[in-house]
Amino acid sequence: MNTVSIVEIVIAAILFLIMILSMFNKRVRKLRVAILVILLDICLLTHVGVTYITEEPVLALKGNSVIALEANETYIDPGIQASYHKKDVQKDVKIQGKVNTKKPGEYKITYEYHYQKDKVKQLERIVKVEDHVAPKITLKGQEKLTIYEDEEYKELGYTVEDNVDQDLEQQVKVQKNEVSKNEYELIYTVEDSSGNEAKAVRNVILKKRQTSQNTQTNSDQTKEENGNSTKKPTSNSGIIYLTFDDGPSLDITPKILDILKQENVKATFFLLNYGESKEKLVKRIVEEGHTVAIHGYSHNYKKIYASEQAYMQNLTKLQTKIKNTTGVTTTITRFPGGSSNTISSFNPKIMTKLTKKVVEEGFRYYDWTVDSNDAGGAKTRDEVYNNVTKGLIRNAKNTVLMHDFSGNQKTLDALKAIIQYGKQNGYTFQKITTDTPMVKHKINN
Ligand SMILES: [Zn+2]
Repeated sequence: MNTVSIVEIVIAAILFLIMILSMFNKRVRKLRVAILVILLDICLLTHVGVTYITEEPVLALKGNSVIALEANETYIDPGIQASYHKKDVQKDVKIQGKVNTKKPGEYKITYEYHYQKDKVKQLERIVKVEDHVAPKITLKGQEKLTIYEDEEYKELGYTVEDNVDQDLEQQVKVQKNEVSKNEYELIYTVEDSSGNEAKAVRNVILKKRQTSQNTQTNSDQTKEENGNSTKKPTSNSGIIYLTFDDGPSLDITPKILDILKQENVKATFFLLNYGESKEKLVKRIVEEGHTVAIHGYSHNYKKIYASEQAYMQNLTKLQTKIKNTTGVTTTITRFPGGSSNTISSFNPKIMTKLTKKVVEEGFRYYDWTVDSNDAGGAKTRDEVYNNVTKGLIRNAKNTVLMHDFSGNQKTLDALKAIIQYGKQNGYTFQKITTDTPMVKHKINN
């Protein structure tokens, strides 16, 4: 464009001079004016032609040429402005390049406008996906625990969550630091692929063994299932909360209550709606010192997860009924399917809303940490027993999911052995109360 304008100006200047000069010469005036006009015409036509051919399209990025965003944010391209010969040609611009916001890094977006035969005008934008969110280490078992000084600490494990990286568990480093003669701390650290660091600390306190007591506590007649006849007394401050869902039932619940009574263990019953014939059972649960809690008036997922209102009605309807039967107003509840269920995904985000809502309304909800799977894959007494005993974590709070629905003989048959296993391994049994910290699964809907 520039060079053309200069040529033009020069031509125009020459023409101007010729014109001025011709003004002073009358004889040749007419002829010279004619020539002048012709020259002017040629000049103008050349100008138009040349500028048309040499003019380039104008491309300008909307938004910044470098855009930074946090991992997992959505990237929306701000687009581009493009014009050619004063016409908007935005829609003819090809945009190339993809941004994977799940993976931190630099991504290039190119904008190309093809014009004339083989000419291209191009612009670029850089999108930087950054991860500034640190992973989170969650320790399994207690953060502060006591073991005997001659006992070896067995790692209780941990989980790592991160917004970007998947398998960070394998990369956790554990460092042991002596705090004092009878205490050390375990420092767990891990870094995600962007260098964000997470840390967790577990304190291990060593105590002296009191020689007189411990060898006697395990003198029950029942033998451990694993055939380990020489039992080593080990310290274990673990708690087991036995919980029974989907009852009461006339055939199973009374027998469960009998066993709990014999073993002097208190448990928690998450009830469904019950008929008149079962009212006695609900009263018995309370009278024998167990926790009566709400699973829901109905267990029908389609109905109860249809709306927040439907769910809250399902909850309070049974709360009122239990109050009328027993005089107890219970605020302890468990979502049918658990708060982590995906069966409710026909109503997107309902669990996210409900887990907030029930707490706002004064309820406390309890998922589980150990699944007996007695409403799923476990078909025999031994499977129930193994699922529970293998799922227990020492020195931790264990909430065990079981069911007392009608016909669930396998759980009934496994219960006594489960309780004895717990006692022999130093666990204490407790019922859930409103002082018990809530047990929450990860929400999946
Ligand atoms: Zn249930």
